[in-house]
Amino acid sequence: MSTPNIVELYGVTKAFGALTVLHDIDLGIREGEILTLLGPSGCGKTTLMRIIAGFEATTHGRVTIKGSDVSYLPPDKRPVNMVFQRYALFPHLDVFDNVAFGLRLKKWPKERVREAVQHMLHLVQLDDYGSRWIHELSGGQAQRVALARALVNAPSVLLLDEPLAALDLKIRHHMLAELKRIHQETGTTFIYVTHDQDEATILSDRIVLMNKGCIEQIGTPEEMYAHPGSLFCARFLGETNILSGAVSATDSEATFVNVGPGTAKVPANGTAVLLGQSVSLAIRPEALQVARIGAGEAAPEGVNALEGVVDDVVFMGSRVVYSIRTPIETIKYQETRSLDGSMLARGERVRASWRPEAAVLLTR
Ligand code: ATP
Repeated sequence: MSTPNIVELYGVTKAFGALTVLHDIDLGIREGEILTLLGPSGCGKTTLMRIIAGFEATTHGRVTIKGSDVSYLPPDKRPVNMVFQRYALFPHLDVFDNVAFGLRLKKWPKERVREAVQHMLHLVQLDDYGSRWIHELSGGQAQRVALARALVNAPSVLLLDEPLAALDLKIRHHMLAELKRIHQETGTTFIYVTHDQDEATILSDRIVLMNKGCIEQIGTPEEMYAHPGSLFCARFLGETNILSGAVSATDSEATFVNVGPGTAKVPANGTAVLLGQSVSLAIRPEALQVARIGAGEAAPEGVNALEGVVDDVVFMGSRVVYSIRTPIETIKYQETRSLDGSMLARGERVRASWRPEAAVLLTR
């Protein structure tokens, strides 16, 4: 049986004046998952999250949490809490009092507050920081305090709006691992907003990719990477090569596409196409095989292959990324490098090929 939804959005539409920024969003968020709202700046991620939190009202549509319609409830009456990009900690309170704030508002007895705050500070690994002032903390530590403060009320859903954006890359990666651990220890449902596909991929059980106020695609990071449903998704999640062409033949098992001088064969995956239709093929750089063509040697013919010249070589330690200029596109090829393996050099003639299953046929 699949996990029940804890949050459900039905036909959520949001307009600011004449500008509609969310269009008829239907979405179910499963209990206990980390779900990421991913998309470019301005696509409506934060607005959608603020609607779930209750900071914005919908123009049309409903939000339910744990089966109850919360569309008209203010934020403090919803079983959610939110962590902001800029932490929003109280500078005049120390770490302990920042975390204790919400519990004291609820008039918890002193001893219970102390226990709960200590438990939270332990969870975020700041056991000895209770009496520190906020300005004495690093960015990563301040973000942990913000997390502790949001989690101490034991919300059913924690909303995180680009919580790591203000941190530098190394600390961000460390904090992602920490977030995963804290998620596991608390079992709370996390809804996370980011425009960073790496963060989304590392963290998420599922990603909701948004584009111009609509949901473009929903899936696990692996599904989205291996089976993008559109050019937008293929491009947004990771590097990809896009080859444009026209359908030249179809049968029950495969679609054939003219790409430049050659032909590509893609397994039929249920996508309906017409003869002559313009389509794209997405092929990940690591899915190519590349072989040298010797001087004076003719390039071998074949489907799913392009001849080209190495234009650029970028050494990245354990991997190397090549740009290969072909008659139709400059494509990227990525190889994992063994320490004694030789690298291709600029100017070398090569043949790039791929297995039929490595290409994804895209019609939009
Ligand atoms: P970013 O990654 O830059 O934060 P986002 O995907 O979170 O972007 P939103 O902040 O949700 O996008 O904004 C979506 C659209 O709604 C944008 O065009 C934005 O200008 C507009 N918008 C957001 N809040 C308001 C508001 N209060 N009044 C008017 N327009 C708004």
